[in-house]
Amino acid sequence: MRAMVLRRQGEPLRMEEIELPPPGPAEVAIAVAACGVCRTDLHVVDGDLTEPKLPLVPGHEIVGRITALGPGVAGLAVGDRVGVPWLGHSCGHCHYCLGGAENLCDAPGFTGYTIDGGYAEGCVADAAYAFRLPDGPPESHGDAELAPLLCAGLIGHRSLRMAGAAERLGLYGFGAAAHIVAQVARWEGRRVFAFTRPGDTAAQEFARRLGAEWAGGSDQAAPEELDAAILFAPVGALVPAALRAVRKGGIVVCGGIHMSDIPAFPYAILWGERQIRSVANLTRADAEEFLALAPRAGVKTEVETFPLAAANQALDRLRRGELTGAAVLIP
Ligand SMILES: [Zn+2]
Ligand SMILES: [Zn+2]
Repeated sequence: MRAMVLRRQGEPLRMEEIELPPPGPAEVAIAVAACGVCRTDLHVVDGDLTEPKLPLVPGHEIVGRITALGPGVAGLAVGDRVGVPWLGHSCGHCHYCLGGAENLCDAPGFTGYTIDGGYAEGCVADAAYAFRLPDGPPESHGDAELAPLLCAGLIGHRSLRMAGAAERLGLYGFGAAAHIVAQVARWEGRRVFAFTRPGDTAAQEFARRLGAEWAGGSDQAAPEELDAAILFAPVGALVPAALRAVRKGGIVVCGGIHMSDIPAFPYAILWGERQIRSVANLTRADAEEFLALAPRAGVKTEVETFPLAAANQALDRLRRGELTGAAVLIP
């Protein structure tokens, strides 16, 4: 099968012909129909995340159909439409797994990082992390439209939950994740304030179109005090900016897996029981909850599709902040 392969970090992906291994015990083989391009893929390719399996097939927003079942797989069948997310395996017996926090597992597997992912015509996944998807269409349930739900949607959802009951919600970085979170937040009756790269009027327009009542540059002050803020942009300097924007008791949630260093800031902007927290990975319960909630909330993803061979171009566009919504590869 064809796959886009990372041989060394810092180098472009190369189209290669590789063999798809048969699924092992408790695994399934999947014909990939669409795979989203996530900022985390950039961190993997560029070398910000330093421990990938190599060579590696990136990609962890996979939508496809099961083509084969490994021994012992129950509850899934050949032909089922499934989605595979970033957390692709958890050990099931560490302190975190036993305590319902498998997202923090001590021996995890990550799709498109330590497990070959979906920038390919096929992949093999842990059946426990292959989530059954609605069998669509309608329009909003096409393979490409569903793909961003598997990471941008799931991590966005977990981030939004960590923001608590915040009514006035700031979103810093308005890309794939924020464009989904904004829709859910509006559906929940929250007010959304979007902060983009300074001068990115296209992203600000996009945010307003998705229900943000205010959109401006991240160098601008919020028009009013916020109850919580979620940072999707990998820019550490936004942490003190967001702290300044939230009220006493407000929460700043860092939704990304990697961020530039956070500059020193005066204690006074954290004082008043403000909180900073990160969000790591996802649990299967998050996936169940969000994949059921997204259609009820009427989430419609905006995607730009690329052929598999154009994966490097899609990553470049994301790196330069030139995408509106989410990029998705179609093998
Ligand atoms: Zn574990
Ligand atoms: Zn991701």
